[in-house]
Amino acid sequence: MRPLLDHYSRPLRDLRISVTDRCNMRCPYCMPKEVFGRGFAFMPNSELLSFEELTRVCRIVAELGVSKIRLTGGEPLLRRELERLVAMLAQVHGIDDIALTTNGILLASKAQALKDAGLSRVTVSLDALDERVFHSMSDTRLPLARILEGIDAADAVGLSPVKINMVVRRGVNDDCVLDMAEYFRNSSRTLRFIEYMDVGTTNEWKLDEVVPAAQIVEMIGARWPLQALPVSRDGEVASRYRYLDGAGEIGFIHSVSEPFCSGCTRARMSADGKLYTCLFASEGHDLRARVRSDASDEELGSYVREIWRARSDRYSAERAQLNPTMPPKRVEMSYIGG
Ligand code: SF4
Repeated sequence: MRPLLDHYSRPLRDLRISVTDRCNMRCPYCMPKEVFGRGFAFMPNSELLSFEELTRVCRIVAELGVSKIRLTGGEPLLRRELERLVAMLAQVHGIDDIALTTNGILLASKAQALKDAGLSRVTVSLDALDERVFHSMSDTRLPLARILEGIDAADAVGLSPVKINMVVRRGVNDDCVLDMAEYFRNSSRTLRFIEYMDVGTTNEWKLDEVVPAAQIVEMIGARWPLQALPVSRDGEVASRYRYLDGAGEIGFIHSVSEPFCSGCTRARMSADGKLYTCLFASEGHDLRARVRSDASDEELGSYVREIWRARSDRYSAERAQLNPTMPPKRVEMSYIGG
């Protein structure tokens, strides 16, 4: 199958699917409670793509070259019977990798069912091991221990290696970096440090709150010498390093200081079926309207093909040229998943 290429010859390989816009946390960098508080109108079930509709879309994009599906949210484990969707997607020809990104709060109770259904891997978002800092980064009072139990459960059922994503925000949790690194050293889990990003328009992002990946590499390397690892596959998001003393691997997702748009092979879909060609896009394409019309699979495929071919997003690579006083309208991350 000839790859479907966009304007910059980037192939469509990955589809990230938000299965719900709801979450049981209110991380200020993604879903500040001042905006997503009591009375916020989350989408009713009737607006969400059903599991059958999602599976149909995945069958169609698999024909176009997608081989990897990542389920996200909001918090995807809030979508009831998610394992049923995983089992349906596991039957789709061409999809050989089904991953999940979760905040881990519900993971311990779901890990076995997800694994049995065909889930390949899981990434858990965890921004601190200090309960006070964890509560300020997630703006909840949910117990941190539940997330650590979820990580252990995922490991125990074979959803490994579990990846851990830590968003680092200067002045909030940057002094937790070494504790996190120490905790996950000599474990089968891969800790990745994510630069704080200007996603959406509600997190009041400031550049000076970003801790560049290079500074974190230096901080950790001063304590435990590191060696950079080669890229393992096209479109890989994280830069990987290994501890020279053999204590494992860590990663860095540096969308602000070292953008990686040139190798971006990801499309995203919101829970109500809008297709986005970039995490920082301002507009999506209404796939649901066509899915719920009498359009054929071929017509849907052509629609997606035209969207991707016309794709020229390179937001992170162009961020520095943007006029900071007139930031573009960007879709909320909680709506399309990270
Ligand atoms: S900014 Fe957009 S184009 Fe660049 S890597 Fe992120 S999602 Fe891809």
